[in-house]
Amino acid sequence: CGIFGVVGVADAANFVALGLHALQHRGQEAGGIVVHDSDAGFNSARRFGYVRDNFTSHKVMETLPGPIGIGHVRYSTAGTKGATAIRDVQPFFGEFAMGGAAIAHNGNITNADSLRKELIERGSIFQSSSDSECIIHLMARSMQRNIPDRMEDALRRVEGAFSVVAMTRTKLIGVRDPLGVRPLVLGKLGDGYALSSETCALDIVGAEFVREIKPGEMVVITEKGVESHFPFRPAKSRFCIFEHVYFSRPDSILGGRSVYETRENIGRELAKENPVEADLVCPVPDSGTPAAIGYSLESGIPYAMGIIRNQYMGRTFIEPTEQIRNMGVRLKLNVNRALIRGKRVILVDDSVVRGTTSRKIKEMILDAGAAEVHFRIASPPTAWPCFYGVDTPQREKLLAATMSEDEMRDHLGVDSLKFISLDGLYRAVGEAKGRDPSAPAYCDACFSGEYPVEPADMLDKGFKM
Ligand code: 5GP
Ligand code: SF4
Ligand code: MG
Repeated sequence: CGIFGVVGVADAANFVALGLHALQHRGQEAGGIVVHDSDAGFNSARRFGYVRDNFTSHKVMETLPGPIGIGHVRYSTAGTKGATAIRDVQPFFGEFAMGGAAIAHNGNITNADSLRKELIERGSIFQSSSDSECIIHLMARSMQRNIPDRMEDALRRVEGAFSVVAMTRTKLIGVRDPLGVRPLVLGKLGDGYALSSETCALDIVGAEFVREIKPGEMVVITEKGVESHFPFRPAKSRFCIFEHVYFSRPDSILGGRSVYETRENIGRELAKENPVEADLVCPVPDSGTPAAIGYSLESGIPYAMGIIRNQYMGRTFIEPTEQIRNMGVRLKLNVNRALIRGKRVILVDDSVVRGTTSRKIKEMILDAGAAEVHFRIASPPTAWPCFYGVDTPQREKLLAATMSEDEMRDHLGVDSLKFISLDGLYRAVGEAKGRDPSAPAYCDACFSGEYPVEPADMLDKGFKM
């Protein structure tokens, strides 16, 4: 998901809408905005679909007045599967002692089932099926005397991955979980401030990047300035390495590193580790593009756009059903036949999850008369589900969970299939010595099976680590 908030600007909702539009790649199912105005109070709008289709019309935007606002773009993840009702669309708003608050959450709460059960037993009335709603109820029950303190109380009970943007009538609040699994950055916007999942959304509103919110940090922002707290027990940070590979936009800066350059490095590492003789390096667009450029630069094999992407389709993976995903590949990608015929082609993609994309693409490219097809993948085999806010399917559906690399190659029917090593990936994101197995610098659970936060609810449901 993507989250964004601003305070201290005229017509906050317009900025929030623009910010969410720049974060649309993080979630396309639905979006919502909550604002507060001293006359009109809290107002919200939550809609299915794209930001540009919902939050551009005057009719909607004029119902969202005020100098402070937050927003969310949603894509449903492991914890909240199949629950695409409007009541699950964030931000969530609640009124309780000390006034109202709204929250937008990116990540996944790994003990949400047990928290929900406990809260319901104690009388909480849930409006949604979302894990994120627990935070509002925990805040409502806290005995603390102001909302930021209530939020600290609430978040100390929550486990898992969370970047949160929240607001009261006058305060904008940003928090990252102790491991800092999901991103969150601070920007200066005129006389006010902005919080955003990624820097690309600061760029679109003309905000200046100030800094990242630190893992375990809570910032409370008013028109007067930024206050910083550290409510959690300190821990070694474990940022999601897959943000670098796939999830974030290439024009964002993560941990001081350009995502684009990191992806190009990944492609270079991939070429060093897994060379092959061929005529062309082609990306599976858009997610494989920077890595393909890196592969081409390193190997000296010419880069070419062998697959053309229809720019009017969203991210296929994000559509939640198998059938739509299957169609989606063809609706979105087409082979550039004239270029491919008779050629030995290296195809670079960011990841193989279920294998749907790669299998379809292989068919299309052989159909177009390619002489050989070699897949090179910019991440290690995805063999484990993510429980921290990225929508990987159940373990059984992951190709790499049930097959060896050679079996995957045969299953996909390609001439070769190679993945970057975990060490190679760490080198590409700036860890010169590779992955330190005793203290990895990132979360890489979907590749390594080492979960930095115990997925409590999933273990209760019988998941075996
Ligand atoms: P597959 O088709 O193998 O199931 O999925 C791989 C494709 O989906 C890749 O082209 C990649 O760009 C995209 N993808 C991989 N992992 C994720 C993910 O966790 N979330 C989303 N939204 N897309 C993904
Ligand atoms: Fe990121 Fe993978 Fe960890 Fe999920 S399991 S947070 S996708 S690295
Ligand atoms: Mg892709």
